Amino acid sequence: MKNESIPNLTAFDDAALDQAFAALARQVAEDAAALDAPNAIEAFRQKWLGRKQGRLNEISGPWLKSAPTPEAKKGIGQRFNELKKTVEELLDQAGGAGPSDAVLAAEALDITLPGTRRLTGAEHPITRTWNEIVSVFAALGYSVGVGPEVETDFYNFESMNFPPGHPARDTQDTLVIANQERRPLRDRLLLRTHTSPVQMRTMEQQPPPVRIVIPGKVHRNDAMDATHSPIFHQVEGLCVDTNITFSDLKGTLDHAMKALFGSSVKTRFFPSFFPFTEPSADVQISCIFCGGQGCRKCKQSGWIELLGCGMVDPAVFAFAAEKQPAYDPKKISGFAFGMGIERIAMMKYGISEIGQLYAGDMRFLNQFV
Ligand SMILES: [Zn+2]
Repeated sequence: MKNESIPNLTAFDDAALDQAFAALARQVAEDAAALDAPNAIEAFRQKWLGRKQGRLNEISGPWLKSAPTPEAKKGIGQRFNELKKTVEELLDQAGGAGPSDAVLAAEALDITLPGTRRLTGAEHPITRTWNEIVSVFAALGYSVGVGPEVETDFYNFESMNFPPGHPARDTQDTLVIANQERRPLRDRLLLRTHTSPVQMRTMEQQPPPVRIVIPGKVHRNDAMDATHSPIFHQVEGLCVDTNITFSDLKGTLDHAMKALFGSSVKTRFFPSFFPFTEPSADVQISCIFCGGQGCRKCKQSGWIELLGCGMVDPAVFAFAAEKQPAYDPKKISGFAFGMGIERIAMMKYGISEIGQLYAGDMRFLNQFV
């Protein structure tokens, strides 16, 4: 189909117009005869209806312009509309008969059917407890620290004042990465057994003051039972500044326990031992089930042991001071604490088996929505 030149229109009476448009209609009919050739439909559409080069547009402009009277203009316009309709009908026919009624019926959409219901997600009890604990300390001005789950022996043990040969390094308790024997002990990789390495990583990167909580996943070679799992979660806290005392530690944790378990909860501190704190303490809270009267959950004692804490050992500050001299134990002091997220979640929500938290059983998890 080649584009012809624009025919001249010299007379504008009905007869002349009819004749001119009949000529155009004949060209359309001639082109339409070839419509079953491949790609012919689009070429035909472009030739006659194309927005820029289309023949109808090309011709209608000059013809309408040259029309001497409004009547002539109207006559030309009407005839162009009819011709355009003819072209469109030819295109419709060439496009085929369209889908059959059966196909249309099969594709029909019943918009009165109810939609697919999507369940709204909810926080897992561990995530919820994690966020609750973090927000209690965030309100006290603590920021959140993070670090790798695969750690070096140095950050997990040595810098936390676990000397070589300390029982906690035992491979019975620690999951180590295989084939590390050629490396020096401090560079060997393991799955962190606590979130404490992030204390050291944070202190190495910023001088005091430091106030961080470190929530995270930890790993130990523990057999699964009602209260133990080889993977669990901890939140640790670290506060370092000038003149931080044990009473700051007591006040902070007493406030945190009241924020987590209710204002009537009492706390008490017992001497304990952790390599990275001196002095160290275990913290007990008054039993949240019996209010301290004594029940099965607290073994009739009225108290439940919940977390460990203490004043940061000067030996830990000495490791930090290798990169940040401001951690001089003569000038600064601090405290640290740690708690198990699962243990607190189990207490808060009355869960008796730790494994239920990991089983992904919707019947169990739906209770916490
Ligand atoms: Zn009790």
